[in-house]
Amino acid sequence: MFTSMNDRSVIVTGASKGIGKGIAQVFAQAGCQVLLVARTLADADAAAKEIAGAGGRASSIAGDVTSESDMQKIAEAAMDRHGRLDVLCANAGIYPQTKLEEMSSEEWDQVMATNLKGNFLSIKACLPHLKESDYGRIVLTSSITGPVTGYPGWTHYGASKSGQLGFMRTACMEFAKYGITVNAVLPGNTLTEGLLALGEDYLETMAASVPLKRLGTVEDIGNAALFLATKEAGYITGQTIIVDGGQIVPESLEALQEA
Ligand code: NAP
Repeated sequence: MFTSMNDRSVIVTGASKGIGKGIAQVFAQAGCQVLLVARTLADADAAAKEIAGAGGRASSIAGDVTSESDMQKIAEAAMDRHGRLDVLCANAGIYPQTKLEEMSSEEWDQVMATNLKGNFLSIKACLPHLKESDYGRIVLTSSITGPVTGYPGWTHYGASKSGQLGFMRTACMEFAKYGITVNAVLPGNTLTEGLLALGEDYLETMAASVPLKRLGTVEDIGNAALFLATKEAGYITGQTIIVDGGQIVPESLEALQEA
């Protein structure tokens, strides 16, 4: 039995849709007070209202993780609304699919600014408040793409998702003296609005390549994030949990089909 997460104050970035919304839902169901962040306030509002409608405590705020001042404002909003800050789920990320030969340096910069610098700015803004809490949990959403696997069109994305783990391994050492842990969930293909945009063929091929024969749900990822945020996970830091239905395991297509 895990210690209750009731009343824990949580910020989730990229929470209006997809995995971030799923993380926010799972934390709210566990009794946390959740602040949902996205650039489009109407979408973040709708997600927060849906969670509140199901009995959770959730509110929304507009913000861009690539903006230092936005992230400071968001960290302060969590303090104003919840009186403390215990958990940051740095989840916001983008994955435009463009092969290297066609990729512009602007697109490269945008992916790095959102997925990698966004983590740095979110954590920097939240750190003073997480230090004040006698708790302190940071959960990053990385990916299997980059740290473990590759996929055409995602050189920038894979580099950013691997970069998050390099960042995490030093950040967890720097924050250990404050009792703050830093860990990452590495989702496989998870059914989200962003993934749906990649098309039906992509979704079918990916589901067929997963030993558990389905794509991940946002709750699958939210549950792993929640575990890393529990009191009982307090001795785990600088680590990763892959949540992919076994996708990275088969040595070959034949191995998958034979089973
Ligand atoms: P999604 O469905 O496209 O949702 C992305 C969310 O992030 C939205 O709420 C979006 O809202 C927000 N966002 C994007 N840029 C932002 C910014 N600069 N500042 C603040 N919020 C921003 O994406 P997803 O599939 O849930 O992916 C979420 C995370 O999971 C990403 O880090 C991604 O790399 C990772 N991941 C996803 C999968 C998958 O299969 N879906 C697999 C592995 C890893 P606004 O546009 O309004 O800002």
